[in-house]
Amino acid sequence: KQDVVKIQAAVATAPSTPLDIRELELDEPRADEVTVRLVASGVCHTDAIVRDQWYPVPLPAVLGHEGSGIVTAVGAAVTDLAVGDSVVLAPASCGVCEQCITGHPQYCVDFYALNFGGSRTDGSSSLTSDGERISSNFFGQSSFATFTNVSARNAVKVAGDAPLELLGPLGCGIMTGSGAVLNVLRPAAGESIAIFGTGAVGLAGMLAAVAAGATTIIMVDIVPERLDFALELGATHTVNSREVDPVERIREITGGQGVQYALDTTGVPPVFAQMTKSLAIRGHGALVGAAKLGTEAPFDIGSLLTSGITVSMVVEGDSVPREFIPRLIALYERGLFPFDKLVKRYEFADINTAFEDSESGVTIKPVLVF
Ligand code: NAD
Ligand code: ZN
Repeated sequence: KQDVVKIQAAVATAPSTPLDIRELELDEPRADEVTVRLVASGVCHTDAIVRDQWYPVPLPAVLGHEGSGIVTAVGAAVTDLAVGDSVVLAPASCGVCEQCITGHPQYCVDFYALNFGGSRTDGSSSLTSDGERISSNFFGQSSFATFTNVSARNAVKVAGDAPLELLGPLGCGIMTGSGAVLNVLRPAAGESIAIFGTGAVGLAGMLAAVAAGATTIIMVDIVPERLDFALELGATHTVNSREVDPVERIREITGGQGVQYALDTTGVPPVFAQMTKSLAIRGHGALVGAAKLGTEAPFDIGSLLTSGITVSMVVEGDSVPREFIPRLIALYERGLFPFDKLVKRYEFADINTAFEDSESGVTIKPVLVF
């Protein structure tokens, strides 16, 4: 029997309050789990909105859901991972429900409980602070910590020489944007797409659209610096929606037709409406931006019916992580998906600065290194 491991972790204690780095106790991995020593963890907008309790994960909690690291222990029932393996962590899914067995684990019937419940499925938490229970298993991983226990199912093995320090965000923000484009919208070479929001998710979607060969790639945001950066990385057009009506401008750019695909990464109701109105006949739009539970968006069913458009709600790019993450790494290694340009490194001790820089937009994708 392995002893309880002392770890350093960033604890979210209350909404809009800085995370507190403390020593916690991590219990031993269950039969189906592995212990991972985190090498790095990305910071995602979703960490901040959960700290602020838009989704009611019980606090205190260790958040973090873009972890990458090295396996240091394996449970007795784990057959596909070994000590020393390099892994990227992905959201948890049950593996046996209808959505999981048909290749859509991001819609697992237990997704909410497994990723936002603050515990394992048996209700236990792997983390305590001097005997006080701390919520664990955030997105199946709680990666703002030096070590974590995760179900082997949500660990994606990658090559031993892969750049682990960089790869954590593939497990959420980067997978969300690129998966929405490559798995759901699927633009073909020569087609058009508009992406609302040029944060990590929107820019990952944009890089995926470039890789897929889309030839009209319109990025919409309200921050000029972000739009300039999008142009450098492959956007063909940018629209500052604070200055011009993005629906009109997108119609102009596309010769009056509208775009064949669109992605809303903002979760802002008027932006969702703009996305639906910017689509061409039989176009396909997807929402990935998160909004508070209960948020409603205007949707002109009168005008849009005859346009034949499709609108999808997409979680985590509808990805199968063990299939999709290796594809993203292969694209990155061939120079076709330079998501490293979105990343800035921070020491773990500077986690609250990383949150502030993500919030203010100074940094697109902060990655904490341990
Ligand atoms: P981000 O804050 O870096 O980017 C959002 C961008 O939207 C910013 O550049 C901002 O300037 C822009 N924006 C805000 N209001 C706007 C408006 N009215 N018009 C145009 N642009 C506007 O965030 P991110 O990391 O890219 O994440 C985007 C969203 O995706 C967040 O809501 C996050 O919680 C969510 N998310 C969802 C999933 C999922 O599975 N669906 C996964 C990860 C993240
Ligand atoms: Zn995320």
